[in-house]
Amino acid sequence: MRGLMMDVPLLVSSILRHAETSHGDAEIVSRAADGALHRSTYAELAARSRKLARALDRLGLAAGDRVGTLAWNSQRHLEIYFAASGSGRVCHTVNPRLFPEQIVDIVAHAGDAVLFVDPGLVPLVETLADRLTSVRAIVVLSTEDGLPRSERLPGLLAYETLIAGEPDVYAWPDLNERDAAGLCYTSGTTGPPKGVLYSHRSTVLHALTVSVPDCFGFKAADAVMPVVPMFHVNAWGLPYAAAMAGAKLVMPGPRLDGASLHGLVRGEGVTMTAGVPTVWMGLLDWVEARGETLAPLERVGIGGSACPPVMIERFAALGVDVIHAWGMTETSPVAVVNRPKRSQAALSPEARLALGRKQGRPLFGVELRAVGPSGDDVARDGVAFGAMLVRGPCVASRYHGSDNDGAFADEGWFATGDVVTVDPDGFVEIVDRSKDVIKSGGEWISSIELENIAVEHPGVREAAVVARADPRWGERPVLFVVPSEDGSFDEAEMAELFEGRVARWMVPTELRLLPELPHTATGKLQKSAIRKLL
Ligand code: ADP
Repeated sequence: MRGLMMDVPLLVSSILRHAETSHGDAEIVSRAADGALHRSTYAELAARSRKLARALDRLGLAAGDRVGTLAWNSQRHLEIYFAASGSGRVCHTVNPRLFPEQIVDIVAHAGDAVLFVDPGLVPLVETLADRLTSVRAIVVLSTEDGLPRSERLPGLLAYETLIAGEPDVYAWPDLNERDAAGLCYTSGTTGPPKGVLYSHRSTVLHALTVSVPDCFGFKAADAVMPVVPMFHVNAWGLPYAAAMAGAKLVMPGPRLDGASLHGLVRGEGVTMTAGVPTVWMGLLDWVEARGETLAPLERVGIGGSACPPVMIERFAALGVDVIHAWGMTETSPVAVVNRPKRSQAALSPEARLALGRKQGRPLFGVELRAVGPSGDDVARDGVAFGAMLVRGPCVASRYHGSDNDGAFADEGWFATGDVVTVDPDGFVEIVDRSKDVIKSGGEWISSIELENIAVEHPGVREAAVVARADPRWGERPVLFVVPSEDGSFDEAEMAELFEGRVARWMVPTELRLLPELPHTATGKLQKSAIRKLL
């Protein structure tokens, strides 16, 4: 017997319609590259998104056509999110920090028909223009006056001119919820970028999933600032989830330094934010050096790479609760979140901090296994290592434009490429990416565990551990350190720091001090490039 409920599709446009109807006056604040703040509301966002949808019709874009963006977090970028997906096109966010060749390849692979570009990124597009062969129009996110003069790109359109003449009336089409809504390529930390094609259904379900109290817990009274870029897996779903809740949205633009972020938190009353660990080092350093506060910030979602416990402590000292989470482009992305269970309420502060190191438990809708080499599940004892597999309605079933990929080889499961332990409470800890784990004398060493310890030292600003080939042990860990501004760190201090914290054979055999370390386009330590420094 079938249920007798309405078959109303889960669509990206329904999020916008809800935000406009129920939270039309909730504020959206967007900061431009020059620091100027633009104030708007969900009602205006919805009206302007309808105008943009009409402009996309006028540009001749068909259903399913890809709308590329090369842009920072701004209100106009939000409008593209809603207008492109809502009107049946696919919003393809391209990461401007990728190598130019990668951008050219991704735009070609996606077949982007139009490209929306931040004014500050026009010089980048100029260098690529003759290779962006699928792109029929380039729209700069500016007014006509703000349009950069470009000899190489004579046909540039200004966003405001493009939508100016359009009425704000548009009937969002009744799409199939399984139609594509967004496209995002992995940032290529371990291989060439691969396209993940989100559906309307997965986008809405993911936004609901991250909204629960035991994840980001969005509410109408929040002011949410997505520091994670909109080109990094849809800013982890924050724009959609904030609109669903009717929360104030604060879009920080291109400036993500400590002073700029602090100014927005304090000035705009930000209560929730999220981003990768690297970006928070700048904010914490800035705030601590000046004895400033982060009030009214309540919580910060941290993921993309492991959040060191010392970062959790530094935020806690400022009254901010860290929500450590794990995800991948292929998992929409947030899939595993560290929130304490009722049974863990009585843990000592030390035990709580140790628990905080873990990435947490799968959210509803995510099934997770950790398997050994035989393919059998490893013991859930918090000790045994296994390869993590996941499945669920917000997990990719394959890559865009590729029929065959080993990651989807296990019937119905996606192989994440991460090595994990799972404890009896179901808490997952990422030991390493399988390519980064160090195999020494037949045992595995977690580079993340060693890095977490290293950054506790006041003389260490950032740390990375990679394997060096070793004739006797197979591989040995080498610790790369960026010293903090006025701190010091040497081999003796390293030995002392690790003493008693890890087994002797796990202690790095060598220390290298460098002024900086290479990062990926999404701000993660780039282990492949660091290995080349050996
Ligand atoms: P890329 O693989 O190109 O970096 P993603 O942004 O999709 O692109 O990265 C997903 C990977 O990031 C995961 O497979 C995992 O290795 C790592 N990761 C994400 N969140 C965490 C976390 N909280 N702790 C440790 N590693 C993480």
